[in-house]
Amino acid sequence: AIAGIATGATKGYVYTRSEYPHAIATMSEAVEIARAAGILGRSVMGSAHAFDIEIRSGAGAYVCGEETSLLNSLEGKRGTVRAKPPLPALQGFLGRPTVVNNVISLASVPVIMARGAEFYRDFGMGRSRGTIPIQIAGNVKHGGLFETAFGLTLGQIIDDIGGGTATGRPVKAVQVGGPLGAYFPRELFDTPFDYEAFTAKGGLIGHAGISVFDDSADMLKQARFAMEFCAIESCGKCTPCRIGSTRGVETVDKIRAGIEPDKNKVLLEDLCNTMKFGSLCALGGFTPYPVMSAMNHFPEDFAPAPMVEAAE
Ligand code: SF4
Repeated sequence: AIAGIATGATKGYVYTRSEYPHAIATMSEAVEIARAAGILGRSVMGSAHAFDIEIRSGAGAYVCGEETSLLNSLEGKRGTVRAKPPLPALQGFLGRPTVVNNVISLASVPVIMARGAEFYRDFGMGRSRGTIPIQIAGNVKHGGLFETAFGLTLGQIIDDIGGGTATGRPVKAVQVGGPLGAYFPRELFDTPFDYEAFTAKGGLIGHAGISVFDDSADMLKQARFAMEFCAIESCGKCTPCRIGSTRGVETVDKIRAGIEPDKNKVLLEDLCNTMKFGSLCALGGFTPYPVMSAMNHFPEDFAPAPMVEAAE
């Protein structure tokens, strides 16, 4: 409602993945509570401003987290990315000026307005201020959602909050930022949870989803998974992502099969650079993060598979 009044909008949409039914149910209930309390509706808190929210669920495409494909999906169209310009702020939903934000950004506004910028600034470090809900998942003892101020080290999050792996084996890698986030080895566990610090180490915080892997993980398989994920989820609009991801899967397979591994590792790096700098949106542009981090931090997993000798 604050964002609606600030921009002069009378309607807002919360777009949620259909795979998250609990989130949809919770948001729907929150909207009903806000309507009953007069925070949403024809007269927001008795003012002359009207603003209401509609919850929309996506049809399962990862790329619909990108703002322009989200807008296409909201309009009932296929979730393909739109070329920019025009920016959504000028020409967005149904061709009207539209502000697109993550819910977490909008959710940070009330506390800043109620308690002041200094209160908010006191949480966090560097340019990463406030708190962040971290989703700890994968092979971890204490998985779940933990909201904390920016600045804890990755090691504190994994070892102290997460309690290490569920299997009890050593942590081999942690992927931060969702399926397109970089893999961090234990040597980088002193990295503070901070946007700039992660960027400096070749990673990203993204939506702060963390997946933990123990020492049985095969990082070449994880690199292949990233390329395969991109190939499946690609909207097909641009060539580096649409074609590159499929070629990426093939190239990783060649490395595993021992087909000119050195040449194919160089080719994979070249392909990653093309995807990183030539893709139209973050799906193709970020896929190189898990691939390159897996290859750089775990080169031993990119050795060809050992030959299995036939039994006599
Ligand atoms: S990077 Fe992939 S998902 Fe994004 S616009 Fe290009 S083809 Fe579509």
